[in-house]
Amino acid sequence: MDKDNNKAVYLDHAASAPLEANVLKAMKKFLTVNGANPSALHKEGMEAKMAVEKARESVMRILGAQKEEIIFTSGGTESNNLAILGVIRSLTSKMPHIVTTNIEHPSVLEVCRHLENIKKAQVTYVPVEENGIVDPRKIKEAIKKNTVLVSVMYANNEIGTIQPIMEIAKEIRHYRKINNSKYPYFHTDATQAMNYLPVKVDKLGIDLLSFNGSKIYGPKGIGVLYKKRNCKLEPIMWGGDQEFGLKPGTENVAGIVGISRTLEITEEIKEKESKRLTKLRDYFIKQLSRRSLDSKIKINGDLEKRLPNNVNISVKGIESDLLVIELDARGIAVSSKSACQSDGPDESYVIAALRSQTSGAAPRPAKPWRSGGSLTSPSEEGSVRFSLGRNTNKADIDYTLKALSSILAKLKKWS
Ligand code: PLP
Repeated sequence: MDKDNNKAVYLDHAASAPLEANVLKAMKKFLTVNGANPSALHKEGMEAKMAVEKARESVMRILGAQKEEIIFTSGGTESNNLAILGVIRSLTSKMPHIVTTNIEHPSVLEVCRHLENIKKAQVTYVPVEENGIVDPRKIKEAIKKNTVLVSVMYANNEIGTIQPIMEIAKEIRHYRKINNSKYPYFHTDATQAMNYLPVKVDKLGIDLLSFNGSKIYGPKGIGVLYKKRNCKLEPIMWGGDQEFGLKPGTENVAGIVGISRTLEITEEIKEKESKRLTKLRDYFIKQLSRRSLDSKIKINGDLEKRLPNNVNISVKGIESDLLVIELDARGIAVSSKSACQSDGPDESYVIAALRSQTSGAAPRPAKPWRSGGSLTSPSEEGSVRFSLGRNTNKADIDYTLKALSSILAKLKKWS
């Protein structure tokens, strides 16, 4: 088995997926023969411009959007920053309020924290339930008169839990209607969801949606922000009119072509691939529970409302990094979200968020993603994420299960 990155088994697709051959093929011309700036007036420039606009049309069709609603960015982080900062900067109100959850990606949480620090916004971090899913009623309860934005991720990057986006959208629509207001806008970070979940923006009922290329087998360094036409955003950078003034600078033509082509492929295979991976994921989980190796393994996050490719485990008493290194030594690539910060425990803020619900501790306010400082209920559990992909098959899972058994037996002896 000589697979991605020369790994025997690559199970880190949620971190980054390999580029599809057909995507590279589509991009190649704009990496080699046509290096023109799409703003140039010559033939090559016009060709580059046309490639960008064709890509925009394709993304627009897949999302069920309009052309001016698609903004190409440099990735998920920029899309999330632009959505949140863009909304806040477009306002004149004194202290706008944002509602989000305590398990968002740092590119949402850190922006919120920054806005709090500079006193440009108040933020409510709604805690997720024990299964890693937020209760839409709690989002509704958190909305105040000055709430201008609700940002809830479509699916979590660590534990793969799928959030009730449509129910939240319904609550927001209802709130807007009875208050005769266009706020709050609803933003979702769909970066992890694009491979597997429906993405028609009107059906979802969202105003702003972020995703990137690298999670959907496209290039790195490219992303999309969908922005509903009536949604007001200020740019976060200045210096050009590109992307409707919201992403100034020379367009990443090859990246733009790549993300649109990879999204087309993703849509074509979405249903089939979701079914295949769900079966494989459930087989993996069942085998883990069956072997359960002295009941040490816990599966984090809801077992059903989770991405087809995600299995996240905690092994009591074993540091996640140790597990990652042992798996790596056997040719298996996975990720841990051990914060590994000198002043904090070896634990992901997402896992801590689940546990704080379990233990009934008060939700940690203000900086829920920071592992530094005191935790309400300390744990020795690390977590490891296995994220399956287009190349993963049953033999890979069996190999991983065998490796896990032998690692845990070895570590048990040590302890
Ligand atoms: N949002 C989520 C949910 C992610 O998983 C990631 C990447 O890991 C990002 C945003 C950031 O994307 P990028 O690396 O393209 O900036």
